[in-house]
Amino acid sequence: MAIHNTAADAANTAVRAFLTEVGEKYWGKIFNTGTGSGKAIWNKIKNEIFGGCCCYCGKRPDKLQLEYLIMFNREEYGLHHPGNIVPCCTDCNKRKKDNNGRHVSWEENLRIICTESGQEGSFEQRRKNIMKHHTEGEYAYPPLTDNENHSIRVMAESLYSSIKTEIEKSLILYAKLTEAFVVKEPEK
Ligand SMILES: [Zn+2]
Repeated sequence: MAIHNTAADAANTAVRAFLTEVGEKYWGKIFNTGTGSGKAIWNKIKNEIFGGCCCYCGKRPDKLQLEYLIMFNREEYGLHHPGNIVPCCTDCNKRKKDNNGRHVSWEENLRIICTESGQEGSFEQRRKNIMKHHTEGEYAYPPLTDNENHSIRVMAESLYSSIKTEIEKSLILYAKLTEAFVVKEPEK
């Protein structure tokens, strides 16, 4: 839970809820990685498909975190879907940025991590493993058309701005109401 909750936090949460619901529509059922069948799928992706290793650096830490290949936010609008999640270690769970301060794609992220750790030779194999999980197998991510991707972006942006606007409207309304209801000191 955030320590300081801003209107932007609320709007971002709404966008993630939307990306979750859309992802689950394509997947065909609820996908809660914290419980039941969703948790079983996440465990299978972690322990069987990726053999308990970080998909980027290949290490086998005690605890693997959930990483979205296509980022689950307003930069990339990735869906919450089994084909979009991979395991990674704490160190690798911070997407690298390019020279313009924008986060890089998962492929570029993998390339940077392999290069920085002197494991250039492992890049291609790791890329293939991730790509196979993302596009083939039983959990393949839906092959969205340009139109679908565009619609997701438009809806997410509209949702983001309306949540922010609602909070701003509430503040204005609150100011008006308190002005109307506040008990003023009698004039002398
Ligand atoms: Zn790692």
